[in-house]
Amino acid sequence: MSEKKLKGQIALVTGASSGIGKAIAIALGEAGAAVIVNYYSGAEAAEEVVSTIRTNGSDAIAIKADVSKEEDVFSMFGEIIQQYGTLDILINNAGLQQDAPFHEMTLQQWQKVIDVNLTGQFLCAREAIREFLRRGHQPERSKACGKIICISSVHELIPWAGHVNYAASKGAIKMLMQSLAQEYGPQQIRVNSICPGAIRTPINREAWETKEAYQSLMSLIPYNRIGEPDDVGKLAVFLASDDSDYITGTSIFIDGGMAVYESFADGG
Ligand code: NAD
Repeated sequence: MSEKKLKGQIALVTGASSGIGKAIAIALGEAGAAVIVNYYSGAEAAEEVVSTIRTNGSDAIAIKADVSKEEDVFSMFGEIIQQYGTLDILINNAGLQQDAPFHEMTLQQWQKVIDVNLTGQFLCAREAIREFLRRGHQPERSKACGKIICISSVHELIPWAGHVNYAASKGAIKMLMQSLAQEYGPQQIRVNSICPGAIRTPINREAWETKEAYQSLMSLIPYNRIGEPDDVGKLAVFLASDDSDYITGTSIFIDGGMAVYESFADGG
C-alpha cells in the first residue's frame, strides 16, 4: 500500500495473534498506523504479527490481556496511553464459539461466549471512548475524534441453530454499536461493525478444511469462494480512515453474498 492513510494514528486490535485480527493488524500497519497487537494466549504468534508490522515499516507492540476481564482491559489501556499517549482506532475483534444444542448448553458455555464476545467489546469500547473524550478532537490526526470497529458476524442477522450463545452475542453487538454511534456521534466518534460471512481462519476450520466441507460451504455463498482474512483487513482500513468519514452506525457485510440467502436462488 503506497498511501499511508493512517499515518500518525494509534490502533488497538484485540485478539490479533490469529485469523481476522492478525490480518487487520497487518493491514492497519501497512496503512501507517502504530498497532497494538492484543492477544490472550500464544505470545509467540503475537510477536510474529508485531515483527511483520515492523518489517513493513510501522511501529507495533504486543500486549497480553483477557478482554473479558476489567482489570486486564484497564491495564492494557494504561500501557497504551503510557507508551503512545493516546488511541485513535479500536478494532473489537476478539471472539470465540462454544457450540452446543440449546437444551444441552451449560451456563458456563453461555457465559463464556457472552463474556468474551460482548462484555469484551463493552469493556474495550468504554476505555477507548473515555480516551477519545479525554484527548478531544484533533482534526490534524483524523477527521473523527476516534473510530471503533466492532467485528460482528452475518449471525447478527442470520439465526444459527446450535450456536445460540454466539448468535445472541453478535445480535447484541449490533445494538451496542448502533447505540454508541448515536450517543457519541456529536463528539465525532464513529462506530461501525464489520459482519464477516465465512472467512478462512482457525475458528471455522472444519467448514473449509476438507474438499467436501468446502463444497458444502459453497452452497451458502453466491460468490462461490471463501473469504480470506485480507478481505476483512482492507475493509477495516477503509472504515478506520477518513475515506469513510460519513459512515457511522452501520453494519457492513463482507460475506460473498451469504446474507442474501443463497437457498432462494432458484425460487426457494
Ligand atoms: P480466531 O480464533 O483466529 O480469532 C479469535 C481471536 O480472539 C484469537 O486470537 C483468540 O486468541 C482471541 N481471543 C479469544 N478469547 C479472548 C480473550 N478473552 N481476550 C483476548 N483475545 C481473545 O478466529 P477469527 O475467525 O479470526 O475470529 C475473529 C472475530 O471474527 C471473532 O469475533 C469472530 O466471531 C468473528 N467472525 C469470524 C468469522 C469467520 O468466518 N472466521 C465469521 C464471522 C465473524
